[in-house]
Amino acid sequence: MTGIVYKSTGSWYTVKSEQGDFIECRMKGKFRIKGIKSTNPIAVGDIVDYELEQTSDTVTGTINNIHDRKNYIVRKAVNLSHQMHIIASNIDRVFLLVTINNPPTTFNFIDRFLVTAEAYGIEAILVFNKIDTLDEVTLDEQLYMQHVYQQIGYKCLRVSAAEKKGVDDLKELMKDKVSMFSGHSGVGKSTLVNAMEPSLHLKTKTISEASKQGQHTTTFAEMYDLSFGAKIIDTPGIKGFGMVDMEPTEISGYFPEFFKLKDQCKFNNCLHKEEPHCAIKAALEKDEIAWSRYNSYLKILEGDDENYRTDIYGEDRAASDKTRE
Ligand code: GDP
Ligand code: ZN
Repeated sequence: MTGIVYKSTGSWYTVKSEQGDFIECRMKGKFRIKGIKSTNPIAVGDIVDYELEQTSDTVTGTINNIHDRKNYIVRKAVNLSHQMHIIASNIDRVFLLVTINNPPTTFNFIDRFLVTAEAYGIEAILVFNKIDTLDEVTLDEQLYMQHVYQQIGYKCLRVSAAEKKGVDDLKELMKDKVSMFSGHSGVGKSTLVNAMEPSLHLKTKTISEASKQGQHTTTFAEMYDLSFGAKIIDTPGIKGFGMVDMEPTEISGYFPEFFKLKDQCKFNNCLHKEEPHCAIKAALEKDEIAWSRYNSYLKILEGDDENYRTDIYGEDRAASDKTRE
């Protein structure tokens, strides 16, 4: 039988069957997945094959196969520097919530996030929230930001979670897909999810926020079915929508508008810095590439750890974890 992993607590996995039942499963034997050294062989979002095991009063399952993953996101395992922890897999879309003020979201932050999503192979969509709070000046800023990303080809939405505006468009993009939400703390993730599905209360708080409030949160990802046919993966307390180590020459491949032009650079290993006959610099001079994007590119290229790592909730990991493999 085949199902999808909705929750993992380390030794037990909650699997939803094709018929819609939830079955607590264990894993049979050891799985080795090509090319990944991970602390957890099975992650939320995995499609697995399992067999039912019936005792007198319980039905449990045994997982004996994992289907190939279309993508997965990882974080470095705590205290095990060479191992990865797979947070979730088979994610269709990640929505980055952006606010102009309260809190401000910078171009640089958005670009790092988008580069990471590109590297993971997950479609990223920008959701400008709190549009009800914009005045003349911040409205201009918001529209400009949106323009920059739409030009590149990223989908953008304008919403107000508080006033439930734009929520139907968002639901439409989530239908029949597995989604994740991301963005700085305070951008309105909880409010937005609540506007879509009032009965669902996600634990969308980071560990530090949760402990400030003295409440206990788990660090396990969990998938939820929403009433309009969407799936959402919540990752309470998990940091690390980052961890993608990139070669310098690889980085521009994750900027779609650079990628389109890079074959026209004179050197095929062009880093688009000082090299002559660089198609990206030429496009920049003609305002066909935004300077904000180029500046973000240079920062990532500089290779500071921070530039690679964006927390799922929008906080930089680098401050708490300086080591990188
Ligand atoms: P999270 O940390 O991303 O989950 O953010 P929250 O959902 O907790 O929202 C942070 C604050 O922003 C709360 O006080 C919300 O009421 C407020 N907020 C969220 N969305 C909107 C919005 O669209 N408009 C306005 N004016 N406030 C919002
Ligand atoms: Zn170049």
